[in-house]
Amino acid sequence: MLSRRDFLKLGGAAVLTTAFSRLNLPQLDASPAPVIYHGSRNHPTIAITFDDDWHPEVLDQLIEMVKPYPDFRFTFFAIGDAILIDEALSPGVWKRIAQNGHEIGYHTFHHVDPAVMSAKALIADFDQWMNTLQQVLGFQPTVHFAKPPYDDLSPSFLTLCKERYLVATLYSLGYEATTVDEGLNLAAKTRNGDIVQMHTYQDPNQGRFDVAITEKVLPYLAEQGFTPVTLSTLYDQLLQDQYNSLGCDVGTGASLTRTCIEP
Ligand SMILES: [Zn+2]
Repeated sequence: MLSRRDFLKLGGAAVLTTAFSRLNLPQLDASPAPVIYHGSRNHPTIAITFDDDWHPEVLDQLIEMVKPYPDFRFTFFAIGDAILIDEALSPGVWKRIAQNGHEIGYHTFHHVDPAVMSAKALIADFDQWMNTLQQVLGFQPTVHFAKPPYDDLSPSFLTLCKERYLVATLYSLGYEATTVDEGLNLAAKTRNGDIVQMHTYQDPNQGRFDVAITEKVLPYLAEQGFTPVTLSTLYDQLLQDQYNSLGCDVGTGASLTRTCIEP
C-alpha cells in the first residue's frame, strides 16, 4: 500500500501507473532532466556560482572572503582539469571548499562544448570528473548540478543529466564586468531567486575583476537582505514552492529526490 508520502513522491499520474504495474513507471522515465535558470522568486535567497575554477589562490580568497557572513555559501562549477591543477598548486583547496559548506557542480573535464560530444562520451566524462573530485576530496561527494560550457544545453548534455540524476543549470544574472563599479551596478539588479554567474579570474590587465567585485558585492547583498545559499538550498526552496502550489506537503526537509512536481 502506498503511503501519502509515497504518493507525494511519485505524483498522481505515476501512482495510477503503479496501481497496474509497480515496477514499470514509463511516465517517470519519459520525463526530461530538470533545467533551472533561477530559484523561487518568493524568497530573498540567491545562488552565486563560480565557473571553471582555475586559480586556487582565488578559490582560497573567496573562501576567506565569505567567512564573515555565516549563512552565505557559494557553488563552484569546476572543470576537471582545473581541479587537478588547483590541487597540485594548493593542496587541499577543494577540501577547504567542501568543509566550509560550499557546493561543487560539474562543468565537464576539459571544457568542451557538449554539443560535439555524444551522450555516451559525456557520461564517461562525468564519471571521470567524479573520480577526480572524489580523489581530491577523499570522500564520495554528492553532486546535483551540471553547468554546460558555453551555456549549450545540447541533447547529449540533457541525456547525461537524466542518466546521472543531475539538474542542468544556467543562470539569470551575472556580476561580471570590466570595472568594479559596473559589477556593482549589475548587483543592484539582483532579484529573489537569481542564479548569478561568476568566474575565478582576477587580472585587472585583462579586465577581469571577479574577486574585487565579489568583495564589494557581499556587504551590499547583506545590507539588501539577500542571502547567497548553495544551489541545493535554492532548488529545494523552488520545489517546496511548487509542492505548495499543487497543494502538497511543504517543509518536509531537504531532498532533491522528492518530486511532487508536474512533469
Ligand atoms: Zn566555463
